[in-house]
Amino acid sequence: MPVLYVGHGSPMSAIVHDEFSEGWAELGRRLPRPKAILAISAHWETKGILITRAERPRTIHDFYGFPPELYAQHYDAPGDPELAERVAAMLAPYARADLDCWGYDHGTWSVLTHMYPEADVPVIQLSMDVRLAPRGHYQIGQALQSLRDEGVLIMGSGNLVHNLRLFRRELDTPPAPFAARFNDTVKARILAGDDDALIDYATLDPEVALCFPEPEHYHPLLYVLGARDKGEPVEFVNDKVFSTVSMTSVLIGNTH
Ligand code: ZN
Repeated sequence: MPVLYVGHGSPMSAIVHDEFSEGWAELGRRLPRPKAILAISAHWETKGILITRAERPRTIHDFYGFPPELYAQHYDAPGDPELAERVAAMLAPYARADLDCWGYDHGTWSVLTHMYPEADVPVIQLSMDVRLAPRGHYQIGQALQSLRDEGVLIMGSGNLVHNLRLFRRELDTPPAPFAARFNDTVKARILAGDDDALIDYATLDPEVALCFPEPEHYHPLLYVLGARDKGEPVEFVNDKVFSTVSMTSVLIGNTH
């Protein structure tokens, strides 16, 4: 099973049909059908690692000031308590599967609602431990790699560049120079297999602090990189930067 990092952008993507939602839908059609999805979203950080183990995880509307129709949306994919327990055991003693710790936040469901609109693939979410250094996130990805062999899709969800303070919403806003440059740098390092540089991202660009004032939207990439094998094919999907947000997704591995 390939591994996937998705750039999720605005929660509105859940109900808008545009080139990005179509890109996600296309991914859903192209990927081998997963037995389950293990999602790592920028929007769930905890102390220690938690894993959702509910039979029916709830849809979390973790955003404010959006139209009512967005709050009416639900993503009703089943959970996978057995897998959640197994993942917790793989990461013991650092992780714990918990019945009511979380559900699906918009980093997960706004994308999956397009990738798997039938909501018939079980999904579990794994939180990012805020206390981990970047290499720690990468090592969690390494520890989870074997799940790919059994058909679990490991999906990180964030944005490679994510600066909402400087974001200009107008549709024709070109990419900020630092945003376009950083997006290109990250892609080049991914293609070169230079994971060490991507882990030590503080040195990737002199303006990295502008690219993401906080790193939680970048960190899910490190799980995906940790779960890859050397020399696997890489493909960029929805490869576009708007103003100061990158929508680029990274698909690693063979889809057939
Ligand atoms: Zn986000």
